[in-house]
Amino acid sequence: MNNTTKTDNNTPVGRYAPSPSGRMHLGNIYAALISWLSVKTRRGRWILRIEDLDPQRSRHEYARLIEDDLQWLGLSWDEGGLDNIGKHGPYCQSLRSHFYDQILTRLTSMGLTYPCHCRRSDILSTQAPHQSDGRVVYAGTCRPAPRPPFNTSYDTQGCSTRIYVPDRDILFTDKVYGQQSVNLAHHCGDFILRRADGAWAYQLAVVVDDALMGVTEVVRGNDLLLSSAQQIYLYELLGYNIPQWCHIPLLVNKAGQRLSKRDGAMSMEELRKKHSPERIIGHLAYLTRLTDHDEDCTPTDLLTTFNTIRPLHSITV
Ligand code: GLU
Repeated sequence: MNNTTKTDNNTPVGRYAPSPSGRMHLGNIYAALISWLSVKTRRGRWILRIEDLDPQRSRHEYARLIEDDLQWLGLSWDEGGLDNIGKHGPYCQSLRSHFYDQILTRLTSMGLTYPCHCRRSDILSTQAPHQSDGRVVYAGTCRPAPRPPFNTSYDTQGCSTRIYVPDRDILFTDKVYGQQSVNLAHHCGDFILRRADGAWAYQLAVVVDDALMGVTEVVRGNDLLLSSAQQIYLYELLGYNIPQWCHIPLLVNKAGQRLSKRDGAMSMEELRKKHSPERIIGHLAYLTRLTDHDEDCTPTDLLTTFNTIRPLHSITV
């Protein structure tokens, strides 16, 4: 468990990690396409991982539809998916609790975690008033002082588990957004690794999975840009190799709102009724300036011209 999977001959390994909480929309396809192109132009491997951590929102039928849509568009994966192709499975997060449990035990034995009894309403009421973007900075209400010694264990029944964060800048470079500097103490405070209801937190699961699956490049929407700092902190503590980060602009609708799974017109269900896969990929490539002409094409056609992602702030569809 201490070592990440060594990738053969430094092959780039990318992944697409959708949450099966609805049908994919054009923005999801953009992330999948860029991630696929980025590794495929370098003869790399592409993994499909199903991020079904949240039992209330995840549905198996959506995972099946995501697979069907990706295949229909010509975005095939080399490893992963519901059929668990490959040696790093299982590829559904709901089946990977044993890995997360081992890592949480390790972090706890390092004296880095503590139980938290705060409810969300308590946290919101102690939040600094200037957090207008909806971000919650944990005030450290349950943080023990002094910090617990190594090999502390505690009862987590009915409470969440948090990790101490340092009051220092975490620096990283994103392929699209460049140099970043995030102080976790100011950005989010001590964050949750496991929720009170037992569900694993995204930040822990994504690091464990990307590391154990040998992922070398993470491509995803820019809404997760700052989460990378939380993830880098975990990578560093666990001694894992940190992947390259590539956050891409979100697609927005005409009203300037980011596309969501509720934007029916841009969902794969509607798009598939009206267009061929080549039309969808061709139009998406044109909108996102991967091509200069709005012409039908397949993901494979784009391999010859794909070079790098042009930084854009938002893309209106
Ligand atoms: N599961 C997340 C989503 O569907 C993506 C997480 C990631 O790529 O790190 O938005």
